[in-house]
This record gives sequence, C-alpha cells and structure tokens, in this order.
Amino acid sequence: MHDLVIVGAGAAGLGAARAALEHGLDMVLIEASHRIGGRAYSEEILPGVPFDLGCHWLHSASLNPFVEIADRLGVAYERTTNWSPALRLSGRWADDGESDDFMRYWEACDQVIEACRTDGRDGAVADIVDRDSPWVSFCDYWTALMTSSDSDRVSALDLATYLDTGENWPVTGGYGNLVARFGAGIPVTLNSAVERIERRRTGVRVHTVSGVVETRAVLVTVSTGILANDRIAFDPPLPDWKREAVAAVPLGTHNRIAIAFDGDPFAGAPSSIIDMDEEVPMLLHIKPYGHDYAVGVTGGRFAQWLERAGAGASVDHVMSRLKRIFGADVEKSARGHLVTAWGGDPWTLGAYSTCLPGRADQREVLATPIDDQLWFAGEATSPRFFATCHGAYLSGIDAVGKIAALRDETRTDEEAS
Ligand SMILES: Cc1cc2nc3c(=O)[nH]c(=O)nc-3n(C[C@H](O)[C@H](O)[C@H](O)COP(=O)(O)OP(=O)(O)OC[C@H]3O[C@@H](n4cnc5c(N)ncnc54)[C@H](O)[C@@H]3O)c2cc1C
Repeated sequence: MHDLVIVGAGAAGLGAARAALEHGLDMVLIEASHRIGGRAYSEEILPGVPFDLGCHWLHSASLNPFVEIADRLGVAYERTTNWSPALRLSGRWADDGESDDFMRYWEACDQVIEACRTDGRDGAVADIVDRDSPWVSFCDYWTALMTSSDSDRVSALDLATYLDTGENWPVTGGYGNLVARFGAGIPVTLNSAVERIERRRTGVRVHTVSGVVETRAVLVTVSTGILANDRIAFDPPLPDWKREAVAAVPLGTHNRIAIAFDGDPFAGAPSSIIDMDEEVPMLLHIKPYGHDYAVGVTGGRFAQWLERAGAGASVDHVMSRLKRIFGADVEKSARGHLVTAWGGDPWTLGAYSTCLPGRADQREVLATPIDDQLWFAGEATSPRFFATCHGAYLSGIDAVGKIAALRDETRTDEEAS
C-alpha cells in the first residue's frame, strides 16, 4: 500500500509530488490527460514563439516561488510592472481627460472592493461599485478577466482577500513551459483518469481507467469544475459541507484568441488596447514581446458564449475589432490562429475559481481534509493566491507537509506502543 496518491499533475499536483518525494513518502501521481501542467500549458503561435493558453503572468512576483524556479531552469520572463493600455472610444483614441476619468473610476472600484477586507463586509462586486458611471462596463469586464466570472457572481470580500503586490511579470518563455520543465523527471502515470475513490477504515482504493491503486491517503488537486460535475465518484459520498464548498467556489471561463500575422500590420500601435467600442469591452494585446500576433481576451458569460460559437467565430470577432481600429487590410496578412476553450476543457471544465457573494469563507472549507484520508489542494483552496499557478503550487506543498507530519506522528505512536 502506498503512502499517498496524488490526483492531477497540474501545478498543485506537481508541487505536492516534489514535496512528497522530499518527505520520503511512497507516492503515486496520477494524471488523466496525456500531459502534465493542467492549466499551465504553452504552445507556439509562431515558430519558436511560445503562447500560453493558460497562466502567463508571475503574479505577486516578489512572493512567487516560480520566479526562483524560472531563474534556476533558465526560462525567460520580464521584470516589468508598467502597464498603461490605450483606450479606444467611439472609433477614436480617448483623450487625456477621458483616460484620467477612466483611471479614477478604476481606482474607485478598487477602493470599494478593498474596503470589504477592512470592514469584513461582503457582497457581489456588481452591487458595490458605482453602476451609474459610464465606465461600469469596464469594471464588469475587468472583474470577469480577473476572476473568470461575471461581477454579479463574484464575492468582493474574496477578491479583496487576494494578496496582490502589484508585480505581474510575463513569462516570455511560456509559464506552461516553465511548469512542464519543473515537472520533468517527477514520476507520473499519464492517460489515467481517476473515476472513483473508495475509502475504508483500512485504506483507500483509487480506481482509474487503467486499474486500482491502494493507498493510505489521497490528495485531490483537480479543479472545482471537475468536482462539481461529479467527474470523480466518492464512496462514501463527499459530505454535504464539502459539496457546499465545491459549489460555493465555482470556475468561470477566460479565453485567449490569438491571431498570427505575416509582417507588421500594426506599425506604431500601442502594445495594449482596451476597446470600449462594443457592449462588452475587450483587452487587445498587439505584437506581444515584438512578435507578429495579436490577442483578444474574454471572460465570464461572454467568454462562454463566444467559446460555444466556436474558434472561427471567436477569430472573426477579434478580427472585426482589429479591422475597426487598424483598417480592413489587416485581415489580408492574417496567417493562423490559436484559440483557447477552457470552459469545455474536459479536465478542468472552466478557467479559475471565484467565491460566490457571501461565501468567501468557503476556500478554507474546500481545503479541509476528511478523516485524514482524503485531502484537497489546487488553486481554489489557496487562501491568498487563489486563481494563480503559484497559489496552486503552494497549496500542494502545504497539504503534503501536513500529510507527512501525520505520517511521522503515526510512526512515533507505533514505535512507542
Ligand atoms: C486562461 C487562463 C489564464 C490564466 N492566467 C494566469 C496567470 O497569468 N497567472 C497565474 O498565476 N495563473 C493564471 N491562471 C490560473 C492558473 O493557470 C491555475 O490556477 C493553475 O494552473 C491551476 O493549477 P491546479 O494544479 O490547481 O489545477 P490544474 O492545472 O487544473 O491541475 C489539475 C490536474 O488534474 C487533472 N485531472 C482532472 N481530472 C482528473 C481525473 N479524474 N483524474 C486524474 N487527473 C485529473 C487535470 O488534467 C489537471 O492536469 C490562468 C488560468 C487560465 C485558464
């Protein structure tokens, strides 16, 4: 019988597996997909140019352990925090007065959200910001990018609890590549979805598509999308308090629609644009890191809707915005695209977690183990770094530290008796 089975080889599972090996635990890491990394995954948008389908930014960089890992593994990132997107309004660039007004509104939104943390109040973000402002559609859009859910489904207290140092450094070499390189060499069983976890007093049987593994403890690191949709059966079933926590911390949708171009149809363009010219605003990255592509970013219900419409419709949508800004000719140099579809990804069923209004206490409940046999980690369980790659990673290490401490206690008790 093994000491520990870890379910899922994303950032949480890989961090947990490394920690388990360091603690000398007899560990098995099981992954449903053909690859490790989960929501950390890079492909190439142009030859030799990485593109992150999932995480890309080293958030709260000075507290982020992946900075040191990137340094050690030689994966490139930029130490830059300066970000001043250009604003597109009524078919033109916003003037200074409009840009200042926009910034003031954005700061005011931040302040009312932050106030929830100081006075312990909670509510939906949509209910606490100034909805009479002409910029409210931006607040809704930005909330959907940060949380992947719409502002009426986002707890302001949860959002304010997130530990943000303001340092968001892009991994130009690909955050997905970074996590894959970190995980290389960790033993993992791929293509082996866990279907059922059966707990008995004598141990746990983990049923996968390729067989049964017996263990003393299991650490489940799959997303709350997977748990909420009962993609893993539990016997006995998860208790009501755990099911409630899963439901209280759902995933939303966040997608990136990248279009590659031949040559440079964007000469002199700003590197980031917030296009306010449609009902739903859109952040457009133009020529990221000097490469010939552009990216449109979607979040929340709009992202779900566009994802369902398909990759072709998503590209058409972003292209129509680019044409409006840069002229119809821009389309002539398009040479391919890469479009994410996290809402329908079979192994996550969403992008990242947010707490529903009034349920900001539920991440802790989600992380609480059951009978010291069934443990939980993953981004949704992180108290201050949820919805991030490093939060997931740290949650895995934290859970394994507790599992190892329990193993040591049991050994000491056995030796004493
Ligand atoms: C579009 C997008 C943009 C993002 N941007 C950023 C960013 O810039 N910076 C940042 O820090 N974070 C970002 N994130 C969030 C970050 O990617 C995630 O929080 C983090 O990668 C989650 O790691 P995890 O280990 O908790 O979960 P996952 O990565 O989902 O890992 C869980 C693993 O479990 C596997 N699994 C599922 N079901 C089973 C099963 N039945 N049996 C076995 N295995 C199973 C999955 O295949 C997966 O590999 C982004 C996410 C998305 C989707």
